[in-house]
Amino acid sequence: TVSASASNVRQVKLDRESELRIEVPNDTSLRLRLLTGTAEIFGTELPPEIWLNFPPRLKFAVFTWYGATVEMDGTTELDYTADETPMVSYVNVHAILEGRRNRAKASSSNDSDSSQGPRVIVVGPTDSGKSTLSRMLLSWAAKQGWKPTFVDLDIGQGSITIPGCIAATPIELPIDPVEGVPLDMPLVYFFGHATPSNNVDLYKVLVKELARMLERQFSGNAESRAAGMVINTMGWIEGIGYELLLHAIDTFNANVVLVLGQEKLWSMLRDVLKNKPNIDVVKLQKSGGVVSRNAKVRQKSRSCRIKEYFYGLVNDLSPHSNIANFNDLAVYRIGGGPQAPRSALPIGAEPVADPTRLVPVSINQDLLHVVLAVSFAKEPDEIISSNVAGFIYITDVDIQRKKITYLAPSAGELPSKYLIVGSLTWLET
Ligand code: ATP
Repeated sequence: TVSASASNVRQVKLDRESELRIEVPNDTSLRLRLLTGTAEIFGTELPPEIWLNFPPRLKFAVFTWYGATVEMDGTTELDYTADETPMVSYVNVHAILEGRRNRAKASSSNDSDSSQGPRVIVVGPTDSGKSTLSRMLLSWAAKQGWKPTFVDLDIGQGSITIPGCIAATPIELPIDPVEGVPLDMPLVYFFGHATPSNNVDLYKVLVKELARMLERQFSGNAESRAAGMVINTMGWIEGIGYELLLHAIDTFNANVVLVLGQEKLWSMLRDVLKNKPNIDVVKLQKSGGVVSRNAKVRQKSRSCRIKEYFYGLVNDLSPHSNIANFNDLAVYRIGGGPQAPRSALPIGAEPVADPTRLVPVSINQDLLHVVLAVSFAKEPDEIISSNVAGFIYITDVDIQRKKITYLAPSAGELPSKYLIVGSLTWLET
Protein backbone atom coordinates (compact mmCIF):
# COMPACT_ATOMS: atom_id res chain seq x y z
CA THR A 1 0.00 0.00 0.00
CA VAL A 2 1.54 3.27 -1.12
CA SER A 3 0.37 6.35 0.68
CA ALA A 4 1.53 9.58 -0.88
CA SER A 5 0.88 11.61 2.21
CA ALA A 6 -0.39 10.10 5.39
CA SER A 7 -0.38 11.84 8.72
CA ASN A 8 -0.57 11.21 12.46
CA VAL A 9 0.16 8.09 14.46
CA ARG A 10 -0.25 4.70 12.87
CA GLN A 11 1.05 1.19 13.24
CA VAL A 12 2.52 -1.03 10.57
CA LYS A 13 2.80 -4.77 10.95
CA LEU A 14 5.74 -6.34 9.15
CA ASP A 15 5.96 -10.03 8.25
CA ARG A 16 9.22 -11.91 8.52
CA GLU A 17 11.90 -10.88 6.02
CA SER A 18 10.05 -7.81 4.87
CA GLU A 19 10.77 -4.12 5.21
CA LEU A 20 9.00 -0.80 5.58
CA ARG A 21 10.56 1.73 3.20
CA ILE A 22 10.22 5.34 4.21
CA GLU A 23 11.05 8.71 2.70
CA VAL A 24 10.93 11.55 5.21
CA PRO A 25 9.56 14.80 3.68
CA ASN A 26 11.90 17.70 2.89
CA ASP A 27 10.53 19.96 5.57
CA THR A 28 9.43 17.83 8.51
CA SER A 29 10.92 15.07 10.57
CA LEU A 30 9.30 11.75 11.42
CA ARG A 31 9.08 9.83 14.68
CA LEU A 32 9.14 6.06 14.64
CA ARG A 33 9.43 3.30 17.19
CA LEU A 34 9.47 -0.46 17.42
CA LEU A 35 6.46 -1.83 19.28
CA THR A 36 6.81 -5.59 19.05
CA GLY A 37 9.28 -8.07 17.60
CA THR A 38 12.73 -7.17 16.36
CA ALA A 39 13.76 -4.96 13.47
CA GLU A 40 16.82 -3.20 12.15
CA ILE A 41 17.67 -0.18 10.04
CA PHE A 42 20.53 -0.92 7.65
CA GLY A 43 22.03 -3.48 10.04
CA THR A 44 21.45 -1.69 13.34
CA GLU A 45 18.80 -3.07 15.66
CA LEU A 46 16.04 -0.77 16.87
CA PRO A 47 15.65 -0.41 20.61
CA PRO A 48 12.19 -1.52 21.77
CA GLU A 49 9.58 1.19 22.31
CA ILE A 50 11.89 4.20 22.20
CA TRP A 51 10.82 6.92 19.77
CA LEU A 52 13.50 7.77 17.22
CA ASN A 53 13.43 11.07 15.39
CA PHE A 54 14.31 10.94 11.70
CA PRO A 55 15.35 14.25 10.13
CA PRO A 56 13.95 15.64 6.86
CA ARG A 57 14.97 14.01 3.56
CA LEU A 58 16.18 10.76 5.14
CA LYS A 59 15.37 7.63 3.17
CA PHE A 60 15.55 4.35 4.98
CA ALA A 61 14.02 0.94 5.55
CA VAL A 62 12.99 -0.87 8.72
CA PHE A 63 13.70 -4.54 8.05
CA THR A 64 12.64 -7.48 10.17
CA TRP A 65 13.99 -11.02 10.10
CA TYR A 66 11.21 -12.54 12.25
CA GLY A 67 8.34 -10.04 12.17
CA ALA A 68 7.66 -6.76 13.97
CA THR A 69 5.21 -3.96 14.52
CA VAL A 70 6.38 -0.38 14.23
CA GLU A 71 4.61 2.85 14.98
CA MET A 72 5.05 6.08 13.04
CA ASP A 73 4.14 9.59 14.11
CA GLY A 74 4.13 12.25 11.42
CA THR A 75 3.88 12.62 7.69
CA THR A 76 5.97 10.75 5.18
CA GLU A 77 6.77 11.61 1.61
CA LEU A 78 6.28 7.95 0.84
CA ASP A 79 6.07 4.73 2.78
CA TYR A 80 5.34 1.17 1.73
CA THR A 81 6.18 -2.34 2.75
CA ALA A 82 8.15 -4.71 0.54
CA ASP A 83 8.59 -8.43 1.02
CA GLU A 84 11.14 -8.86 -1.75
CA THR A 85 14.56 -7.77 -0.59
CA PRO A 86 18.13 -8.99 -1.18
CA MET A 87 18.76 -9.09 2.59
CA VAL A 88 19.27 -12.86 2.78
CA SER A 89 22.04 -12.69 0.19
CA TYR A 90 23.61 -9.74 2.03
CA VAL A 91 23.60 -11.52 5.36
CA ASN A 92 25.10 -14.59 3.70
CA VAL A 93 28.00 -12.42 2.60
CA HIS A 94 28.30 -11.21 6.17
CA ALA A 95 28.48 -14.82 7.40
CA ILE A 96 31.32 -15.60 5.01
CA LEU A 97 33.21 -12.46 6.09
CA GLU A 98 32.64 -13.47 9.69
CA GLY A 99 34.31 -16.81 9.04
CA ARG A 100 37.30 -15.06 7.55
CA ARG A 101 37.57 -12.71 10.51
CA ASN A 102 37.56 -15.65 12.87
CA ARG A 103 40.25 -17.42 10.87
CA ALA A 104 42.38 -14.27 10.81
CA LYS A 105 42.01 -13.85 14.55
CA ALA A 106 42.87 -17.49 15.22
CA SER A 107 45.97 -17.47 13.06
CA SER A 108 48.76 -17.43 15.58
CA SER A 109 51.41 -16.72 13.02
CA ASN A 110 52.62 -13.23 12.41
CA ASP A 111 52.17 -13.88 8.76
CA SER A 112 50.53 -10.75 7.50
CA ASP A 113 48.35 -12.61 5.03
CA SER A 114 46.73 -15.12 7.34
CA SER A 115 46.13 -12.59 10.14
CA GLN A 116 44.44 -10.19 7.74
CA GLY A 117 40.66 -10.19 7.85
CA PRO A 118 38.52 -9.53 4.80
CA ARG A 119 39.11 -6.39 2.81
CA VAL A 120 35.79 -5.82 1.15
CA ILE A 121 35.23 -3.26 -1.57
CA VAL A 122 31.68 -2.42 -2.63
CA VAL A 123 31.31 -1.27 -6.24
CA GLY A 124 28.44 -0.53 -8.59
CA PRO A 125 26.70 2.24 -10.52
CA THR A 126 25.21 5.28 -8.79
CA ASP A 127 22.16 4.48 -6.74
CA SER A 128 22.80 0.79 -6.45
CA GLY A 129 22.90 0.88 -2.65
CA LYS A 130 26.67 0.75 -2.11
CA SER A 131 26.73 3.00 0.94
CA THR A 132 23.80 1.13 2.41
CA LEU A 133 25.35 -2.30 1.94
CA SER A 134 28.67 -1.03 3.36
CA ARG A 135 26.80 0.21 6.37
CA MET A 136 24.99 -3.09 6.95
CA LEU A 137 28.17 -5.13 6.72
CA LEU A 138 29.90 -2.80 9.18
CA SER A 139 27.01 -2.75 11.64
CA TRP A 140 26.54 -6.51 11.58
CA ALA A 141 30.26 -6.97 12.22
CA ALA A 142 30.27 -4.40 15.01
CA LYS A 143 27.30 -6.10 16.62
CA GLN A 144 29.42 -9.21 16.92
CA GLY A 145 32.18 -7.30 18.64
CA TRP A 146 34.50 -6.60 15.70
CA LYS A 147 35.92 -3.17 14.98
CA PRO A 148 36.08 -3.09 11.20
CA THR A 149 37.44 -0.06 9.41
CA PHE A 150 35.12 1.86 7.14
CA VAL A 151 36.84 3.45 4.17
CA ASP A 152 34.81 5.87 2.08
CA LEU A 153 36.28 6.79 -1.29
CA ASP A 154 33.10 8.48 -2.48
CA ILE A 155 33.95 12.18 -2.74
CA GLY A 156 30.46 13.03 -4.02
CA GLN A 157 28.13 11.38 -1.52
CA GLY A 158 30.43 10.05 1.17
CA SER A 159 29.13 9.26 4.62
CA ILE A 160 32.09 9.99 6.91
CA THR A 161 32.68 13.70 6.50
CA ILE A 162 31.98 16.58 4.12
CA PRO A 163 32.05 16.07 0.34
CA GLY A 164 35.33 16.35 -1.51
CA CYS A 165 37.12 14.04 0.92
CA ILE A 166 38.19 10.44 1.18
CA ALA A 167 38.22 9.13 4.71
CA ALA A 168 38.43 6.15 7.04
CA THR A 169 37.21 5.46 10.54
CA PRO A 170 36.92 2.42 12.79
CA ILE A 171 33.34 1.28 13.44
CA GLU A 172 33.10 0.08 17.02
CA LEU A 173 29.32 0.00 17.42
CA PRO A 174 26.47 -0.59 14.99
CA ILE A 175 25.97 2.66 13.07
CA ASP A 176 23.24 4.86 14.52
CA PRO A 177 20.32 4.97 12.06
CA VAL A 178 19.82 8.70 12.65
CA GLU A 179 23.28 10.04 13.48
CA GLY A 180 25.17 7.96 10.93
CA VAL A 181 28.86 7.20 11.15
CA PRO A 182 30.45 8.48 14.38
CA LEU A 183 32.80 11.37 13.80
CA ASP A 184 35.22 10.88 16.67
CA MET A 185 38.52 10.70 14.90
CA PRO A 186 38.21 9.99 11.21
CA LEU A 187 41.31 9.91 9.06
CA VAL A 188 40.48 12.40 6.33
CA TYR A 189 42.25 13.47 3.13
CA PHE A 190 41.00 16.51 1.27
CA PHE A 191 40.56 16.28 -2.48
CA GLY A 192 38.54 19.47 -2.68
CA HIS A 193 36.16 18.65 -5.52
CA ALA A 194 32.96 16.63 -5.72
CA THR A 195 34.09 14.69 -8.78
CA PRO A 196 37.49 13.07 -9.40
CA SER A 197 37.71 14.28 -13.00
CA ASN A 198 38.94 17.64 -11.69
CA ASN A 199 42.25 15.98 -10.87
CA VAL A 200 42.39 12.21 -11.33
CA ASP A 201 46.07 11.98 -10.43
CA LEU A 202 45.58 13.77 -7.14
CA TYR A 203 42.68 11.46 -6.32
CA LYS A 204 44.97 8.46 -6.83
CA VAL A 205 47.71 10.02 -4.74
CA LEU A 206 45.31 10.58 -1.86
CA VAL A 207 43.90 7.04 -2.11
CA LYS A 208 47.47 5.78 -1.84
CA GLU A 209 48.20 7.99 1.17
CA LEU A 210 45.08 6.79 2.94
CA ALA A 211 45.90 3.15 2.22
CA ARG A 212 49.48 3.61 3.40
CA MET A 213 48.35 5.18 6.64
CA LEU A 214 45.82 2.41 7.32
CA GLU A 215 48.40 -0.24 6.52
CA ARG A 216 50.63 1.29 9.14
CA GLN A 217 47.83 1.33 11.71
CA PHE A 218 46.90 -2.28 10.96
CA SER A 219 50.45 -3.50 11.37
CA GLY A 220 50.36 -2.51 15.02
CA ASN A 221 46.81 -3.57 15.70
CA ALA A 222 45.91 -7.25 15.33
CA GLU A 223 42.32 -6.61 16.35
CA SER A 224 41.51 -4.15 13.59
CA ARG A 225 43.59 -6.16 11.15
CA ALA A 226 41.45 -9.25 11.75
CA ALA A 227 38.23 -7.24 11.55
CA GLY A 228 39.27 -6.01 8.10
CA MET A 229 37.70 -3.21 6.18
CA VAL A 230 34.70 -2.27 4.11
CA ILE A 231 35.44 0.18 1.32
CA ASN A 232 32.67 2.22 -0.28
CA THR A 233 33.33 3.60 -3.75
CA MET A 234 31.93 6.12 -6.21
CA GLY A 235 29.19 5.31 -8.69
CA TRP A 236 31.40 6.31 -11.61
CA ILE A 237 32.19 2.97 -13.26
CA GLU A 238 32.92 3.86 -16.88
CA GLY A 239 36.24 4.89 -18.41
CA ILE A 240 38.40 6.63 -15.86
CA GLY A 241 35.88 5.73 -13.17
CA TYR A 242 36.52 2.05 -13.92
CA GLU A 243 40.26 2.65 -13.87
CA LEU A 244 39.92 4.28 -10.45
CA LEU A 245 38.03 1.23 -9.17
CA LEU A 246 40.86 -1.05 -10.29
CA HIS A 247 43.32 1.36 -8.69
CA ALA A 248 41.41 1.21 -5.38
CA ILE A 249 41.15 -2.60 -5.45
CA ASP A 250 44.86 -2.80 -6.03
CA THR A 251 45.93 -0.07 -3.59
CA PHE A 252 43.94 -1.46 -0.67
CA ASN A 253 44.69 -5.09 -1.55
CA ALA A 254 40.99 -5.81 -1.52
CA ASN A 255 40.20 -9.53 -1.44
CA VAL A 256 36.42 -9.41 -1.72
CA VAL A 257 34.82 -7.32 -4.46
CA LEU A 258 31.06 -6.97 -4.08
CA VAL A 259 29.44 -5.82 -7.30
CA LEU A 260 25.96 -4.36 -6.87
CA GLY A 261 23.37 -4.18 -9.56
CA GLN A 262 25.38 -4.51 -12.73
CA GLU A 263 26.15 -7.72 -14.56
CA LYS A 264 28.55 -6.06 -16.99
CA LEU A 265 30.75 -4.53 -14.31
CA TRP A 266 30.80 -7.84 -12.47
CA SER A 267 31.93 -9.77 -15.53
CA MET A 268 34.56 -7.17 -16.44
CA LEU A 269 36.02 -7.20 -12.95
CA ARG A 270 35.89 -10.99 -12.75
CA ASP A 271 37.83 -11.29 -16.00
CA VAL A 272 40.46 -8.71 -15.16
CA LEU A 273 40.97 -10.06 -11.62
CA LYS A 274 40.86 -13.78 -12.40
CA ASN A 275 44.62 -14.13 -12.52
CA LYS A 276 45.08 -12.61 -9.12
CA PRO A 277 44.95 -15.23 -6.41
CA ASN A 278 42.57 -14.82 -3.50
CA ILE A 279 40.23 -12.19 -4.83
CA ASP A 280 36.56 -13.09 -4.85
CA VAL A 281 34.35 -11.10 -7.17
CA VAL A 282 30.77 -11.51 -6.04
CA LYS A 283 27.64 -10.35 -7.83
CA LEU A 284 24.83 -9.06 -5.63
CA GLN A 285 21.33 -7.89 -6.39
CA LYS A 286 20.43 -4.26 -5.91
CA SER A 287 17.60 -3.60 -3.47
CA GLY A 288 14.36 -2.32 -4.98
CA GLY A 289 14.26 0.16 -2.12
CA VAL A 290 17.27 2.18 -3.20
CA VAL A 291 16.14 5.68 -4.04
CA SER A 292 17.60 7.30 -7.16
CA ARG A 293 18.91 10.78 -6.76
CA ASN A 294 19.27 13.29 -9.59
CA ALA A 295 22.00 15.91 -9.89
CA LYS A 296 19.94 18.50 -8.03
CA VAL A 297 19.22 16.18 -5.11
CA ARG A 298 22.90 15.22 -4.93
CA GLN A 299 23.94 18.88 -4.88
CA LYS A 300 21.40 19.54 -2.14
CA SER A 301 22.66 16.63 -0.07
CA ARG A 302 26.24 17.88 -0.43
CA SER A 303 25.19 21.29 0.95
CA CYS A 304 23.41 19.55 3.79
CA ARG A 305 26.54 17.60 4.66
CA ILE A 306 28.54 20.81 4.90
CA LYS A 307 25.86 22.48 6.97
CA GLU A 308 25.74 19.43 9.22
CA TYR A 309 29.50 19.64 9.74
CA PHE A 310 29.20 23.14 11.19
CA TYR A 311 25.71 23.16 12.70
CA GLY A 312 25.02 19.52 13.55
CA LEU A 313 22.32 17.24 12.22
CA VAL A 314 19.47 19.16 13.86
CA ASN A 315 21.13 22.52 14.46
CA ASP A 316 22.49 21.20 17.73
CA LEU A 317 26.02 22.55 17.28
CA SER A 318 27.07 26.17 17.32
CA PRO A 319 30.09 26.93 15.20
CA HIS A 320 32.35 29.81 16.12
CA SER A 321 33.02 32.83 14.02
CA ASN A 322 36.72 33.68 14.16
CA ILE A 323 38.87 36.43 12.70
CA ALA A 324 42.41 35.99 11.42
CA ASN A 325 44.98 38.19 9.72
CA PHE A 326 45.87 37.33 6.15
CA ASN A 327 49.42 36.82 7.37
CA ASP A 328 48.46 34.17 9.88
CA LEU A 329 47.18 31.85 7.18
CA ALA A 330 48.72 30.22 4.14
CA VAL A 331 46.28 29.00 1.52
CA TYR A 332 47.26 26.49 -1.14
CA ARG A 333 45.60 24.86 -4.09
CA ILE A 334 46.79 21.46 -5.26
CA GLY A 335 47.30 21.01 -8.97
CA GLY A 336 46.33 23.19 -11.87
CA GLY A 337 48.51 25.81 -13.42
CA PRO A 338 51.51 24.94 -15.52
CA GLN A 339 54.35 23.16 -13.83
CA ALA A 340 57.03 25.59 -14.93
CA PRO A 341 57.05 28.74 -16.98
CA ARG A 342 57.76 28.16 -20.66
CA SER A 343 61.04 30.04 -20.29
CA ALA A 344 62.30 27.46 -17.82
CA LEU A 345 61.59 24.49 -20.09
CA PRO A 346 63.83 22.99 -22.74
CA ILE A 347 63.20 24.48 -26.18
CA GLY A 348 60.15 22.92 -27.80
CA ALA A 349 58.71 21.46 -24.61
CA GLU A 350 55.16 22.41 -23.72
CA PRO A 351 54.31 23.28 -20.14
CA VAL A 352 51.99 20.68 -18.64
CA ALA A 353 49.75 21.02 -15.66
CA ASP A 354 51.28 19.17 -12.73
CA PRO A 355 48.35 17.57 -10.91
CA THR A 356 50.08 17.50 -7.56
CA ARG A 357 51.86 20.82 -7.66
CA LEU A 358 51.26 23.05 -4.66
CA VAL A 359 50.12 26.49 -5.77
CA PRO A 360 50.03 29.34 -3.22
CA VAL A 361 46.72 31.19 -3.36
CA SER A 362 46.45 34.83 -2.43
CA ILE A 363 43.64 35.73 -0.08
CA ASN A 364 40.96 37.83 -1.74
CA GLN A 365 37.23 37.98 -2.38
CA ASP A 366 37.40 34.75 -4.38
CA LEU A 367 37.60 32.89 -1.10
CA LEU A 368 34.25 34.19 0.10
CA HIS A 369 31.82 31.28 0.78
CA VAL A 370 34.55 28.77 0.12
CA VAL A 371 35.10 25.72 2.34
CA LEU A 372 38.78 25.17 3.13
CA ALA A 373 40.49 22.22 4.75
CA VAL A 374 42.90 22.74 7.63
CA SER A 375 45.92 20.57 7.02
CA PHE A 376 47.94 18.76 9.68
CA ALA A 377 51.07 19.60 7.68
CA LYS A 378 53.94 21.30 9.49
CA GLU A 379 55.55 22.47 6.25
CA PRO A 380 54.02 23.28 2.88
CA ASP A 381 55.71 20.33 1.21
CA GLU A 382 53.90 17.98 3.60
CA ILE A 383 50.47 19.23 2.58
CA ILE A 384 49.70 16.64 -0.09
CA SER A 385 50.65 13.70 2.07
CA SER A 386 48.97 15.01 5.22
CA ASN A 387 45.49 14.31 6.42
CA VAL A 388 43.30 17.19 7.51
CA ALA A 389 42.10 18.27 10.93
CA GLY A 390 38.81 19.77 9.79
CA PHE A 391 37.26 22.54 7.76
CA ILE A 392 36.54 26.25 7.89
CA TYR A 393 34.08 28.35 5.95
CA ILE A 394 34.95 31.88 4.87
CA THR A 395 32.21 34.39 5.67
CA ASP A 396 34.05 37.66 5.11
CA VAL A 397 37.21 38.90 3.46
CA ASP A 398 38.25 42.42 4.45
CA ILE A 399 40.89 43.45 1.94
CA GLN A 400 41.51 46.83 3.53
CA ARG A 401 42.20 45.57 7.01
CA LYS A 402 43.66 42.32 5.70
CA LYS A 403 41.40 40.26 7.88
CA ILE A 404 39.40 37.18 7.15
CA THR A 405 36.31 35.99 9.07
CA TYR A 406 35.59 32.29 9.10
CA LEU A 407 33.32 29.75 10.68
CA ALA A 408 34.93 26.81 12.48
CA PRO A 409 33.39 24.02 14.56
CA SER A 410 35.08 25.42 17.63
CA ALA A 411 36.72 28.56 18.92
CA GLY A 412 40.44 29.02 19.33
CA GLU A 413 43.42 28.82 17.08
CA LEU A 414 43.48 26.53 14.09
CA PRO A 415 45.74 23.47 14.45
CA SER A 416 47.77 24.68 11.51
CA LYS A 417 48.14 27.77 9.33
CA TYR A 418 48.12 25.66 6.18
CA LEU A 419 44.78 25.66 4.42
CA ILE A 420 43.79 23.83 1.24
CA VAL A 421 41.28 25.23 -1.22
CA GLY A 422 39.46 23.25 -3.90
CA SER A 423 36.22 23.99 -5.70
CA LEU A 424 33.99 23.35 -2.72
CA THR A 425 31.66 26.22 -1.94
CA TRP A 426 28.58 26.55 0.18
CA LEU A 427 25.87 29.17 0.53
CA GLU A 428 24.54 29.39 4.02
CA THR A 429 20.76 29.52 3.92
P1 ATP B 1 25.99 6.70 -4.69
O1 ATP B 1 26.54 6.02 -5.87
O2 ATP B 1 25.38 8.00 -5.00
O3 ATP B 1 26.96 6.79 -3.55
P2 ATP B 1 24.79 4.38 -3.47
O4 ATP B 1 24.91 3.32 -4.49
O5 ATP B 1 25.80 4.37 -2.38
O6 ATP B 1 24.72 5.80 -4.15
P3 ATP B 1 22.91 4.46 -1.32
O7 ATP B 1 23.42 5.76 -0.81
O8 ATP B 1 23.25 3.26 -0.55
O9 ATP B 1 23.32 4.28 -2.85
O10 ATP B 1 21.33 4.51 -1.47
C1 ATP B 1 20.66 5.60 -2.08
C2 ATP B 1 19.51 6.05 -1.20
O11 ATP B 1 18.54 5.01 -1.08
C3 ATP B 1 19.92 6.41 0.22
O12 ATP B 1 19.20 7.54 0.61
C4 ATP B 1 19.50 5.21 1.03
O13 ATP B 1 19.24 5.53 2.37
C5 ATP B 1 18.27 4.75 0.29
N1 ATP B 1 18.00 3.32 0.44
C6 ATP B 1 18.85 2.30 0.23
N2 ATP B 1 18.26 1.12 0.42
C7 ATP B 1 16.99 1.39 0.80
C8 ATP B 1 15.85 0.58 1.14
N3 ATP B 1 15.91 -0.75 1.14
N4 ATP B 1 14.71 1.21 1.45
C9 ATP B 1 14.63 2.56 1.44
N5 ATP B 1 15.63 3.36 1.12
C10 ATP B 1 16.81 2.80 0.80
